[in-house]
Amino acid sequence: MSDPFAVAGRVRLQPGRERSLVRRHPWLYRGALAGELPAGEGPVEVCDSRGVPQGIALVGGSGGSLALRMLTFGDARWDEAALRARLEGALALRRRLGIDSDAWRLVHAEGDELPGLVIDRYGAVAVVEPFEPAWDPYLGLIAGFLTAEAGIDTVLQRAGSARRTPVQAIVGAVPGSPVVIREGRARFPVDLQAGQKTGFFLDQRDNRRRLGELAGERTVLNLFSYSGAFAVAALVAGARRGVNVDESAPALALAREAYGLNGLTVSDEDFLPADAFDATRRMIAAGGRFDVVVVDPPAFAKRRAELPAGLRGYRDINLQALRLVAPGGVLLSCSCSALVDESSFLGALHGAALDARRRVRVLERRGAAPDHPLSLFCLESRHLQAWLCAVE
Ligand code: SAH
Repeated sequence: MSDPFAVAGRVRLQPGRERSLVRRHPWLYRGALAGELPAGEGPVEVCDSRGVPQGIALVGGSGGSLALRMLTFGDARWDEAALRARLEGALALRRRLGIDSDAWRLVHAEGDELPGLVIDRYGAVAVVEPFEPAWDPYLGLIAGFLTAEAGIDTVLQRAGSARRTPVQAIVGAVPGSPVVIREGRARFPVDLQAGQKTGFFLDQRDNRRRLGELAGERTVLNLFSYSGAFAVAALVAGARRGVNVDESAPALALAREAYGLNGLTVSDEDFLPADAFDATRRMIAAGGRFDVVVVDPPAFAKRRAELPAGLRGYRDINLQALRLVAPGGVLLSCSCSALVDESSFLGALHGAALDARRRVRVLERRGAAPDHPLSLFCLESRHLQAWLCAVE
């Protein structure tokens, strides 16, 4: 096998385009390059316009305009020891966090200086999701690290969003049924074969716990519920009722399974396979009210061109949600669109509050749990914002 660390070629930047490297930003777009990328998968040496080496980068193959992701800066080496040191650093950080769960994100891409690489663990199963095919030659080494150092016995590979291949086993076998994880006092089934993301929305862990603290004796509407995790967290913490809305039938089947695992009563009317925009309108027409409403949709703006429509979507769904919050209730409104910044999202919430004629106050501005660290050198990779609001 060829050495995955061997530099496959050199690429020069256009004059002035090394500026982002001085700021330690890990991304370089096609437009920053003078000439073509070398063919082949291996890492490349990045030079400034005068030919002075600036670091080593992974070649982007995911089809977008992102051409290179920096692995090292200056003359730092990119070798097995460097990869290992980053994996060890990622693991050590998680062990310091005191996460009350056996499922957590072990590697958060740019946030762990492993750009474009995500590794989530569900108990003894790790799911590796490389967003760049250029990570593929390293997966054997990574799996070796996980089994030797991280208490993992099964390593699965999930292809990044650009590649549509099924989940494969690198070590062990793909589990035939959902794996059960624990988070606080709740248990969740995680479908590692066909679930969304790597199987579960680990980034919402602390927001689920917070919701549980507020949900005692309350009714909860969980819009875009996926496997019902927010409702389950609330019910386990003493909520009176949790209603889940998702357009995906398999997601709601998992949600039912989650209720069962936690000894909660499963009633058909608490699992609505429906478009959330339609379902909320029907509930409003029927005079529905909930003490707590969670809005956690998929990213409405994945590309810059989708921003205006995405913001209209956030405004509309939050308007419907606000109409369903009982006076004195709570709205937890989330966005996982990296392109939507906080002030734009708050603008959408403000418009929704005006249209709903409700007084809305932000109690907490929340985000992803700390096993999803955000690199100060790559703020664009911030994705999740979650606004906990009081609604009068
Ligand atoms: N809140 C979930 C994660 C939500 S992910 C959790 O904490 O686990 C977004 C979910 O929205 C997906 O499950 C997807 O199936 C669902 N979805 C996407 N568009 C939808 C729509 N228009 N109406 C209802 N559900 C939708």
